[in-house]
Amino acid sequence: MKLLLVGNQGSGKGTQGKILSQKYQIPLISAGELCRSANKDTEQGKIVHRYMNAGELVPDDIMTALLKKRLDENDTTDGFILDGYPRTLAQGHLLEKITDLDKVIYINISDNEVIKRITGRRTCSKCGAIYNVLTSPKPKNENICDNCNGALKKRKDATKAAVKKRSTWFHEKTEPLIDHYRKQGILMEVNGEVAIEELSKQILKELNSQ
Ligand code: AMP
Repeated sequence: MKLLLVGNQGSGKGTQGKILSQKYQIPLISAGELCRSANKDTEQGKIVHRYMNAGELVPDDIMTALLKKRLDENDTTDGFILDGYPRTLAQGHLLEKITDLDKVIYINISDNEVIKRITGRRTCSKCGAIYNVLTSPKPKNENICDNCNGALKKRKDATKAAVKKRSTWFHEKTEPLIDHYRKQGILMEVNGEVAIEELSKQILKELNSQ
């Protein structure tokens, strides 16, 4: 089964990807992870890290080459789950030269929910526990970890302005890609504003009924 997960930041793609990967025993291939693990000793790897460090998207030809190399590995013979690539229509067309897709799962959440999920996120600087001061799990004290009393930190790019900017980008660049898959008849759209377990049940039910 060849799957792609798409959704705005905070939609839970990574979490659902892990669940699906376990269930179907196929690898979850995250574009961000591919970039982070690019070998810095190679010319290609150096370019990837330069773009990442600048907070910019890696050029399409390099990103596509990284993905092609990953898809050529032995563990993808039964399929794969892509997360983070393609995220524009141009990347979607490049992907079509490498592989087809059986299903595209679009996890839809509102912009308000995106803001709550991302700006409310806090991570313990000591034990790594994750909280959300606007949704759940809420810590007892906004700044202190329930488990170890470590200081809770917010990511630098989790400001309301930065989140809104990324959301605008998603609407402008990723929605045309989603429409493309809708027209192809391979889009499965699910409501992401439900609990993790409920969402995964819904996705599995729809995948199994195909
Ligand atoms: P992420 O983990 O999704 O935040 O991605 C981390 C970094 O990897 C991004 O800031 C980009 O530099 C790069 N990256 C991830 N996905 C893509 C993509 N589809 N196209 C180009 N660059 C990407």
